[in-house]
Formats: sequence, C-alpha cells, structure tokens
Amino acid sequence: MANTDGVLIHPAVDNGIKQTDPNFSGGVLSCLCSTNPVKVRVSAQTAHNHVCGCTKCWKPEGAVFSQIAVVSRDAVEVLENGDKLEIVNADAPIQRHRCRECGVHMYGRIENTGHPFHGLDFVHTELSPEEGWSAPEFAAFVSSIIESGVDPSRMDGIRARLRELGLHPYDTLSPPLMDAIAAHVAKTSGVTSRAAPQEEKSDTRRDEETAAGNENRETASASTPPPPPPPAESGSIIGRLLNRLLGGSR
Ligand SMILES: [Zn+2]
Ligand SMILES: [Zn+2]
Repeated sequence: MANTDGVLIHPAVDNGIKQTDPNFSGGVLSCLCSTNPVKVRVSAQTAHNHVCGCTKCWKPEGAVFSQIAVVSRDAVEVLENGDKLEIVNADAPIQRHRCRECGVHMYGRIENTGHPFHGLDFVHTELSPEEGWSAPEFAAFVSSIIESGVDPSRMDGIRARLRELGLHPYDTLSPPLMDAIAAHVAKTSGVTSRAAPQEEKSDTRRDEETAAGNENRETASASTPPPPPPPAESGSIIGRLLNRLLGGSR
C-alpha cells in the first residue's frame, strides 16, 4: 500500500469531498482578479464532476489536478466583465474561455455540432462561493500529470490517495463518458447496435462499414482485413480518438 501522507490532489478535495446538494440549482463563478472580476452565472446543477490530470484544463496555483464538471451550455451566461475573456485556442475541440488578466478558465465550450459532448460546457465549480455543486466522482487522465512535470515515482501514492478519496483513477475518462463517446462514434459512422439478435449482414453492408474507416476497424469482418496503419499514425485507437475529440491529452 503506497504512502498517501501529504499527497495533494486539488484544494477542493484534499480536506474531504463536499457532498452534492440534491436541491442545488447553480451559482456564480468569479475569476481571481481582485478588481473587475469576470462573473459567469451557471443556472443549473452540474454533472460528471471530476478531477482531471490533463495538461489543458485550468488548475489552481500548485494543484496537480484540475476539478471540472459539465453543464448545459444554455445554463451558462456571462454576467460581468466579459470583455476580459479570450479563447485559449480557437482550433481546439473545447474552446476554453479564460480571463486574460488572471488566466482562470471561466468555461469551455464545444462549437462543433457533431461532437459527442456538443451542448455541454465545462466549468470549474470551485470558482463559485455557493455550496452544493455536484461532487467530484472520479479522476480522469491521471497518467497525464506526468506530462506536466510530476515524477513517475509519485504515481503510486497519487493513485492510492485518489482511491482513498473515492475518486477512482482512470487514464482516460470514466466508463460512462467513454461509452457515451463510443456510442456517438458508432451512431455517426452507421454501426448498427448488436444488442438484439438480428439477421446476418450482407457483404455490401459489411464493405460499407469497412470503407467508413472508423476507429472501430478491429471489429470488421475477418474476411476483409483492415489495411495496415500508415507509418505516421501512432498511439492507441483510444488515444487518437481522444485527441480528435478533446485535443491533446484532454
Ligand atoms: Zn481574472
Ligand atoms: Zn482536463
């Protein structure tokens, strides 16, 4: 059992996780500027809150993880000092709107209507003084903290601490979110769900699926072996999928 003494994850969880208030209906996020802070109202409870180890999410000073949740984009409204907001990277799948003075990310938005998470904004609920936001449930992209400088020898202690807090460590997203992404990919690439027994597909149909060149190539029929990946292609299927959907290690 790894020693978890002194292992810090994020200020919102290090001293115990605050429970979700089932009657909570939102609050106002403020950036960290002492004058003219950017204020964003989130007028709904959040979901899928988690700590994230990726290199793209905003983290408070000194924190190894960020804490981030999703909420319907309809529930997110800039109230004050929106002129201080800028998009970190307009080409990224998630456009993170940050305060150009203090650097805090106020919300991340997906403009691509074909994206599995389109319609959801990403927010850091710790920026709000209100209590009762959905509690963090898991840890995502844990191994990615090494990319931001954490020594690999610390990983056992960090994963043990996450488990101690009840935040199961995943190196991608949680199974429900990964399933949601995969279901979206399957749907948009025309894959028929095999939940119920059905007639065998015709060869034509099978060829169509193979030609779609989707990320699920390994499920294609053995009679139509997939072409070898081009040499430039690297990383796992899931890694490439996540890169395409979320950008970088997020
Ligand atoms: Zn600010
Ligand atoms: Zn992240």
